[in-house]
Amino acid sequence: MLPFSRITIIGLGLIGSSVARAIRANMPDVRITGYDADSGVRESARGLNFCDDVADNAGTAAIDADLVLLAVPVGAMGDVATSFAADLPVDAIVSDVGSCKQSVFDALAKALPGATIIPAHPVAGTEKSGPESGFASLFEGRWCILTPPDDAPEVAVERLKTFWQRLGADVEIMDARHHDMVLAVTSHLPHLIAYTIVGTADDLEDVTQSEVIKYSAGGFRDFTRIAASDPVMWRDVFLSNKDAVLEMLQRFSEDLTALQRAIRYDKGDELEALFSRTRDIRRSILEQGQDDDAPDFGRKH
Ligand code: NAP
Repeated sequence: MLPFSRITIIGLGLIGSSVARAIRANMPDVRITGYDADSGVRESARGLNFCDDVADNAGTAAIDADLVLLAVPVGAMGDVATSFAADLPVDAIVSDVGSCKQSVFDALAKALPGATIIPAHPVAGTEKSGPESGFASLFEGRWCILTPPDDAPEVAVERLKTFWQRLGADVEIMDARHHDMVLAVTSHLPHLIAYTIVGTADDLEDVTQSEVIKYSAGGFRDFTRIAASDPVMWRDVFLSNKDAVLEMLQRFSEDLTALQRAIRYDKGDELEALFSRTRDIRRSILEQGQDDDAPDFGRKH
């Protein structure tokens, strides 16, 4: 039995188009309607044919949906919801794929009073953007975190859980604020650090840019992949998850200062103890199938 039969996806970039492709691959009888604010993206989506229909406005897209899924930058969620509020069927479930959850829930609840809103975050992605970069297997074996409010109907949560499982994801239910704290440390802080390191290297005066590129395999290259992520998406993530990111950043700065001291005062044992602990974390990630031990993290070039 299908959890939903008419799904509308608003925002047809990397994640929205991947969801559409994954629905096609795993639930071919579901009718998919798409909408994107960018007319060029709508044109590409029509050409790529991962939706049954691509509407020219959000209201028309949502009008007969039983699931409306928002896949736009987190700062745009509230405005997008307002744009289809008048057309949303009363029994539809509204969800999203945004990278932070409490601020998105607040924005959706304000725009859609009385609607059934169950936020979600598939912890899967790449540094690419746009409808061309999506693919059907993106969510396979990855986590999707649902953050339903306390009064969410259990049946609705179960339907959304089944939906993500059918796309190949493992589903976890979590409190929205807890999600934001966990993701601040596992995703948002690493992105901020990557943006900083790449920016610092770019600003250096006594190391040339050609040297930075030439010797990038020394570790820098892996940061550049993360630092190539979509600027609008990440601007919105940091502004929307401000409190959790600032708290994690404070702890990170303290730990960095401790490392600075260890280097300054030749505390080799402290450095070695930390590096051994972090190596164990890498081992656990591989054991849990969350990355690949193949050369270059299993990336295909
Ligand atoms: P993306 O490839 O840039 O796609 C977002 C699409 O939404 C773009 O086509 C954009 O159009 C469109 N859009 C922006 N504002 C809109 C509006 N008001 N109404 C309708 N469409 C609008 O970004 P993405 O990577 O798919 O990210 C989408 C969401 O997924 C974000 O909330 C992000 O936090 C979340 N997410 C991303 C990843 C990841 O790794 N990328 C992973 C998990 C979750 P324009 O052409 O005008 O920009």
